[in-house]
Amino acid sequence: MRSYKEVIECVYTDVKNITDTGKVADYIPELAHVDANNFGVNITTIDKESFGVGDFEKKFSIQSVSKILTLTLAYKFEGVKLWDRVDVEPSGNPFNSLLQLEADSGKPRNPFINAGAIVICDVLLSHLKNPKEDFLDFCREISNNPTLNYNEKVAESEKISGFRNVALCNFIKSFGNIKNDVEEVLDFYFYTCSLEMTCKELSEIFLYLTIDNFTTQKGERVITESQTKRINAIMLTCGFYDESGEFAFRVGLPGKSGVGGGIIAIHPDQYCMAVWSPKLNKKGNSYKGMLFLEKFTTKTASSIF
Ligand code: GLN
Repeated sequence: MRSYKEVIECVYTDVKNITDTGKVADYIPELAHVDANNFGVNITTIDKESFGVGDFEKKFSIQSVSKILTLTLAYKFEGVKLWDRVDVEPSGNPFNSLLQLEADSGKPRNPFINAGAIVICDVLLSHLKNPKEDFLDFCREISNNPTLNYNEKVAESEKISGFRNVALCNFIKSFGNIKNDVEEVLDFYFYTCSLEMTCKELSEIFLYLTIDNFTTQKGERVITESQTKRINAIMLTCGFYDESGEFAFRVGLPGKSGVGGGIIAIHPDQYCMAVWSPKLNKKGNSYKGMLFLEKFTTKTASSIF
C-alpha cells in the first residue's frame, strides 16, 4: 500500500494541474449543477486498506457504474439464461445508441450500454417484489454500507429528459425483449443510475469482484468465481462503450465509467480504485479519470497485462 500511496499522491497532483478538455454532462439537467473541479481518488486493497486523495469523500451520481451492480444481481438470479436476453460483445457505438438494435432484433450487444442495462432492469423487475428497495438492500448488503441511497432529484431529472432511453425501451419491447411495463422498467432504470456514492464507497462496494472467495458480512458469497471472471471480462471489453479498446490499451484493467464522471477500475486479487472528475471526453468518459488511471497503472506497473 505504501508505494501505491506515493504514486497516487504524485499522479493526483500531476493530473490536477493538467487542463481538462472535457465537459460536464448536462443532458440530465440535475447533473449540470455539479462543480466541474471536483477530483477525487480512492483505492481499497484486498486487505481492505483504504487510501483517498482530493474529493474522495464527496457523494456523486454513479450513473452507469451502477450497471455492474444491476448485472450482478440479474446474473445471480438467472445464471447463464441471462445471455439469451443480452449479448456480451463490445458495441463500438455510443452508450445510448439505437443503431444496432434493429439489426440485432432487440438483443442489446452487452449489459453496459443503456439498451443492455434497460433489459437487465426488466429482468430484475420480474424477480424483485419491491425493485427499488430490494436493489438498494442488495447494494447495502454487499458493501456493508447501510447509508447508500438514490438521489431522487437526479432520478426525477432524468425521467423528464431521458427521451432516448424511452425510445430504447419501447424499441426493445417491440421485439419482445422487455416483459414488464415500459414505464416501470424506465423508472427503475433511472433510479439505479441515480445511486450516489463517494470514491471511497465505490472502491469498497466492488471488492466482491476483486477478492477471491469474497463473502459479505453475513458470510454469503455474492456471485460464483466463474461469474466474477465473466463480469470482469465484460468490463474490460465493454465498460467504456466505443472507447473500451482505448481504456484497455491505456489502463489495462477491467473498468466501468458513468456520465457523473466516476470510473471504477479493478485489479483482480490486488485492488479496486475509484476516480471521480465530472468533465467527460467526447465518448462520455471522465477525461481526468482515464488519465489518472493510465498514469497510475503505468507507474506502478500494475495492469493485468
Ligand atoms: N443515466 C444515464 C443515461 O441513461 C447513464 C449513462 C452513462 O452513465 N453512460 O443516459
